[in-house]
Amino acid sequence: MLSAAANPARHFYCDSRVAVLLPLPLAGAYDYRVGADPVAQGDVVEVPLAGRTSLGVVWGPGSAATDPGKLRTILRRLPAKPIPEALCRFVDWVAAYTLAPPGAVLKMAISVPAALEPPAPIWAVRARPIPDGLKLTATRRKVLETAAAHPPLTMADLAREAGTGDSVVKGLVEAGALEKVALAPPAPFAAPQAHRDGPALSESQAQAAAALAEIAGFHVWLLDGVTGSGKTEVYFEAVAAALKRGRQVLVLLPEIALSAQWLGRFRSRFGVEPAVWHSELSDGKRRATWRAVADGTAAVVVGARSALFLPFPDLGLIVVDEEHDGAFKQEDGVCYHARDMAVVRARIGACPVILASATPSLETLANVQAGRYHRLHLPDRHAGAVLPEISMVDLRRTPPPRGFWLAPPLVAAIERTLAEGEQAMLFLNRRGYAPLTLCRKCGHRLQCPHCTAWLVEHRQAGRLICHHCGHATRLPSVCPECEAEDSFAACGPGIERIAEEATHRFPGARVAMMASDTVSGPHAAAEFVRQVADHEIDLLVGTQIVAKGYHFPMLTLVGVVDADLGLEGGDLRAGERTFQLLSQVAGRAGRAERPGRVLLQTFQPDHPVMRALVAGDRDSFIAAEAECRRDAGMPPFARLAALIVSGPDAGAVDDYARRLARTAPHTEGLEVIGPAPAPMALLRGRHRRRFLIKAARTVALQAALKEWLAICPAKQPLRVQVDIDPYSF
Ligand code: ADP
Ligand code: ZN
Repeated sequence: MLSAAANPARHFYCDSRVAVLLPLPLAGAYDYRVGADPVAQGDVVEVPLAGRTSLGVVWGPGSAATDPGKLRTILRRLPAKPIPEALCRFVDWVAAYTLAPPGAVLKMAISVPAALEPPAPIWAVRARPIPDGLKLTATRRKVLETAAAHPPLTMADLAREAGTGDSVVKGLVEAGALEKVALAPPAPFAAPQAHRDGPALSESQAQAAAALAEIAGFHVWLLDGVTGSGKTEVYFEAVAAALKRGRQVLVLLPEIALSAQWLGRFRSRFGVEPAVWHSELSDGKRRATWRAVADGTAAVVVGARSALFLPFPDLGLIVVDEEHDGAFKQEDGVCYHARDMAVVRARIGACPVILASATPSLETLANVQAGRYHRLHLPDRHAGAVLPEISMVDLRRTPPPRGFWLAPPLVAAIERTLAEGEQAMLFLNRRGYAPLTLCRKCGHRLQCPHCTAWLVEHRQAGRLICHHCGHATRLPSVCPECEAEDSFAACGPGIERIAEEATHRFPGARVAMMASDTVSGPHAAAEFVRQVADHEIDLLVGTQIVAKGYHFPMLTLVGVVDADLGLEGGDLRAGERTFQLLSQVAGRAGRAERPGRVLLQTFQPDHPVMRALVAGDRDSFIAAEAECRRDAGMPPFARLAALIVSGPDAGAVDDYARRLARTAPHTEGLEVIGPAPAPMALLRGRHRRRFLIKAARTVALQAALKEWLAICPAKQPLRVQVDIDPYSF
């Protein structure tokens, strides 16, 4: 199924030295001597390393600088397919861009070491000529006749076919009347049916689909269409086109574990399930999937950001759905943005990439404006469905009654919706019961001992939990500060509290919550989504996971409990992010025949985000945001990096941060801001200080950072984490 381009001539090395990259956070590749087996670029090998052995990948020719006497020899070449050239180049590129050690990036590419060994064979048996002197009972004869009449069967299958037990079959194997043969494992993924017809497309959909399907080489598309405009149907046409060319396709989704609806749509379009890649796969599935990607039998992979590092030999299209979503940014280990790296991967693989969104990021829109990306526009919802009408509930004028969180206009709207037999959704981006627990006597607030964060009460679980490090404890019966008994009060709402209020206010309504801790794992999520779609739930209370692309035809009202929530804090991206999230949430309403309504509860009805949402005026909002960023000299109009210095001891962290500040580069066009306490000044027991480095587009930012950090490198337990293009700033 692979095209010829997939296997360009590889460079073999024999009788010499090669550079081997190890999946470890080392500065670079190490030289090794080639053993008896010749090896080629991309081969996976086992090498000696400090008294142990390590996996590695042949990365290129060795450097003459290493003393030949010190060279150690490659132990063996693994029987795995070589790591594709494009993936090796991608690893190098990501390492150079993010300043992560190349081995740390390679580790993401060979994340399933077990997949590098051949799969365990499946043993079957087949008939042989009957040996002399074999005692032939009727059962034995039946087994031998059955074996002769079938292709090789496993012993259990043969026994079942012949209507007998395993021991009879085993006896025949021992007697030499049956022989064991190894079967090739079945391909885990069936080929998608690219030639099946999709739905009839509207004119604007058809135009966009035709443009997408036409280009096979590197090209970046922005598929910009309002929620419900059919972006998925349109990019499915591009998927079909890539499959018809015999090439592989990667689709990145922000919450792959919650994508049952997406998978169902894929199945109805292409007749089969795609391969899925995310952190909750079982080991066996992970191994089989990795191998199927490597040998090309997984034609379509839908995955989380880590799927970018799978060993596609012949990638022909990448789709990044909801390209604006913050979940694409990885913020620990190797810090990278999967959307941007998808563009890099596409360039290296010479294939197109489609970024789809109803609310594209400022970065992507700037790239469209600069002519680097090409925009395709879907202006309307499919089949005449209209966009929901968005209005505000001004909490200063019509506040909820004391101790409640839903204001009268929202309550009235929900009552009407339920009376019409329709569904409503309440959105609050906060898990648990209450974000803060405080002593009524002395005002003491329960805080995480390891993080700059309040402990969040989860009443259903009977716990106070830190949402940053997972620290969990029971509610103390005595205040640790003033020793008052039973003095703690919950402050503010989380979705558990909203669900409690909803149950109380709308008796008879079937209320259900959806958050990552109440609905966890793909199966629970799929079942939950089915219940909503089948109208077994009337009122849905959820966090941002309910915002992600679901299509619920009977859902006509969305109430945003606290529209101001995301605007708190000094983050310059807060406005953009809130606008995107709330547009996404609003987009769940009225997606079919019945029109939808959205009510935003806010204390800031004059805030530009609220005004833009109500007016449905994305373009003016984006223009104003862009203006703001340009004035502040911030991305996407300049480049930005964050350095986070951290360690267990605050004094040592401050000392080191000051030393770094003294050696900061004085380069034209580059500005170092800080050190200042990082947004989470204490996280998992580590104190954190942050530098922001702003650079003009003309400055070699990575080189400057590298030089700077080499002057006084951090010594354990201090650490410096580099985050190029940080998501928050
Ligand atoms: P978006 O991804 O832009 O939010 P979707 O692709 O989810 O939009 O489409 C919204 C709904 O409309 C889905 O149920 C989809 O199946 C349906 N739809 C979109 N385009 C068509 C079409 N051309 N024919 C039939 N159904 C369509
Ligand atoms: Zn914590």
